[in-house]
Order: sequence, then C-alpha cells, then structure tokens
Amino acid sequence: MAEQEKEAGLPLKENFSEWYNELLMKGEVMDVRYPVKGLYVWFPFGFNIRRNVYDIIRRLLDKDHQETLFPLLIPENEFMKEAEHIKGFEEEVYWVTHGGTSPLEVKLALRPTSETSIYPMYKLWVRSHVDLPLKLYQIVNTFRYETKHTRPLIRLREITSFKEAHTVHATWEDAAAQVDEAISIYTEFYRKLAVPVLASKRPEWDKFPGADYTIATDALMPDGRTLQVGTAHHLGDNFAKTFDITYEDAEGEQVYAHQTCYGISERSIAALISIHGDDKGLVLPPAVAPVQVVIIPIIFKESGNVLAACGDVMTRLEQAGLRAKMDASDIRPGAKYYKWEMRGVPVRLEIGPRDLKNNAAMLVRRDTGEKIQVSLENIVDELSTLLERIHEDLYQKARTSMYEHVFECSDLGEIREKISKGIAKIFWCGSKECGLKLEDDVGAGILGIPTEQTKDCNGRCLVCDSDASVQVYVARTY
Ligand code: ZN
Repeated sequence: MAEQEKEAGLPLKENFSEWYNELLMKGEVMDVRYPVKGLYVWFPFGFNIRRNVYDIIRRLLDKDHQETLFPLLIPENEFMKEAEHIKGFEEEVYWVTHGGTSPLEVKLALRPTSETSIYPMYKLWVRSHVDLPLKLYQIVNTFRYETKHTRPLIRLREITSFKEAHTVHATWEDAAAQVDEAISIYTEFYRKLAVPVLASKRPEWDKFPGADYTIATDALMPDGRTLQVGTAHHLGDNFAKTFDITYEDAEGEQVYAHQTCYGISERSIAALISIHGDDKGLVLPPAVAPVQVVIIPIIFKESGNVLAACGDVMTRLEQAGLRAKMDASDIRPGAKYYKWEMRGVPVRLEIGPRDLKNNAAMLVRRDTGEKIQVSLENIVDELSTLLERIHEDLYQKARTSMYEHVFECSDLGEIREKISKGIAKIFWCGSKECGLKLEDDVGAGILGIPTEQTKDCNGRCLVCDSDASVQVYVARTY
C-alpha cells in the first residue's frame, strides 16, 4: 500500500496548477529547485523532449531560413535607440555594469529579445535589393526581469529556448506576407506537436513594442486560460529607420527596408505537456517522445526465450528508426508501468511466455489504455501505424476540446459565466476604451481578432452597443 501511495503521487489534473508543478518534477521535465527565482533546470529527459521539439521547428524553418547566433550582450547605446521598444522592455532588462571590479564605460544589457543586437549588423549586411529577403533565426536564451509570479516553462526570468527569426524585405507588403507565412509555419509546427492553436491579431495596445502590428497564436490550457505560444510582428520600417537599414533598389535609390520578427519559446512544451497529460503523468505525442516504445518482458521462471524475443523486437524497432527502450530491470511490473506512464511513453509493448507461444505481443496505448494484440511478424508496421494514429487522435481530441471551449457570447453576463471555462467570442467596436472597460467588467481582456475572420460581419459592440464589424476572442491569459 505504501508503495502504491508513493507511486500515485500526482495530484488530479483538475487541480491544474499543482498537477503541472508536480508533473514537471515526477515526469522529469524540469527541476524547480534552482536557487534563483524564475530560473529552472532541464532534466536530461525533459531536455530530450526539448531537442525533439526544436528539431521540428528547425526542419520547418531550414527550408528557406538560415540559422545563426548573435551575442547575448547588447551595448546600452544600441539598446536605447528605438523609443517604443525601450518603453516596452526597460523594466525587464538585466544590466551588466561591471567587468570584474571595474565599472564598464558602456553598460551591457542581457538580451530580453534580440532586435537591438541583430539590427546594427543588418545595417552592414543589407546593401542591395538582391540581398533581400534576408531570413535568419537563432535559438538562444533571453533574460527578462519578470515581476509577476514566475512559473516553469511559462513565465521565466531566463527563457532558455527562444527561437527568434528576423527577416528583412524590400516592401511593407512583402513583410506582411512574411508575417502570414510565419503564422502558417507556427500552426504547422503545433500540428506536429498535436497542439491546436488559435491565431489572432492583437489589439493595438497589446502589440510588440515598436511594431506596426502583431499576430499571435494561443493554446487553450486545461484551466481555461490561454497561453500565448507564438508571435509574429510586422515591424514596418520603424527599426530600419532607427538602425539605418537601407538597400539600393532597382532604380539605384537608397530606401529603407521593411522587417518582421517572430518567436517561439519553451512555452510550446508547456502547452504540449499540459494539454495532453493526464492523472497518470505525461502523454507525449510520438514525434517528440524521447522513448516511443517501451518493451517490457513479462518474466516468470523461464525467462530466456522471452528476453531473447524482446531483444529481437528491440533491434528491429531500432533498425526501423523508432526510439525504443527495453526495461528488463528487476522492479515489479506495476512499478515499471507507473514509471513509463509518468514519462508519457506512447506505447508499452509486453511479451510474456503465453504471447511468445502465439508468436504475439501486447501493445498498450498510453493515451487511451487500449490493449492491442499483434503478431510478432508485423510488429514494426503495426507499431508505426499505431504511433501515427495516436498522434492524430491526440490532435483531434485536443482540437475538439478547444472548440468546445470557445463560446459565442451576446452579453456581459454570459461572458462572466463562460470565461472561467474558456474563450469568449464577441462583437467589438474596435475602441481601446471598450477593450479596457471589458477587462474591468469581466476580468478578461481582448485576445485578438481571429485571422480566419475574412469577411466583415455585423453586430453591436457588447460594451458600448455601437456598430461592430469584427468579432474578437476574449480570454483570461497567462
Ligand atoms: Zn464599443
């Protein structure tokens, strides 16, 4: 009993916050015991998930972007150049003021984001229209002195895994097309994590400091709040003017370039483990699971044949490129199941003496608990098909659940009632006043205008009752 109690240590997922914190430790994703607030440590298992996740975004970007690496430190004079940008970040910047015991002549900022580190170099690199578009990205750590409650993978003082892309284009329209492209890349990325997202254009007061506009993707977390998991910003020629990024156009004139930037962080991993996980632990989509199949030999007295058969299956799975692991350790089967369930391994494969007699194995799905008997002959094909099906089922389940939690609301009372469960969709006149009043009234703000909203629609603003031609998402956010 005592052992079982210890094993069943995860709080129920309905107590989301406690569940999340415990899961990070017990699922060996993040250790939260580092002695600096807002800084956390990747367990090797968690880092393995991270590697698989970032391999996916790399593969998507590498089609027409190039990866690069810029310095962490930004001199104060460059950082302070763009007025709006500074206003947005000045309260969050960590400064390096000393080299050893000597004060520095020019203070150095730890990048909170890298525009001001990258764009002085873009000024040197961009010369002619033939250099454009320029599309670079880097995956780096960034630092923000968060004063709100910090939370692992979600609100950090060191963002360990910021994938930021920075592009330069000839025209405003080209840059706008790149923002759309970025959102489409992000949607595809999240599709590969089996995470459904909603894309929306942020209201004016919530855009990136220094941008013309911002489009973001949000995931709906189990507690009904949305998590912003990707952003794309049209920078216009604002930064180009500040950093003097010009190119010679086809007529030989020097003109300002137009820019975009877009980012994704380890929040992608927070979303994926929160949305798919359950009371027993992590549930990982096969594409990112460090172990896709765990092989458990069911051993009684004579174990020789069973172990040999498991070893043979293991070799065949590895040859087929699957990430398989055999657990022939001495611990009892119940404890093994607990361990690999907690780590979210998509499929458990069991072979016992009776299975062997039938030349068969038992597959157990982590997401549904379903048991499937398969013949050893076809095991590689069966497993590959099953892993694909698991991915698709995880995505469809999450997608259905997300849309079940988007509520069309027609008065403030209805928003108040629904907003604790998910997202409200309402008509809005477009004024900042109504947006902020809404936040005061219902405790949830305007997330943005859905990007799929292509045609104008007609209604009355829920706050001021004047004409409204757009619908917006309203949500409680992280
Ligand atoms: Zn209004």
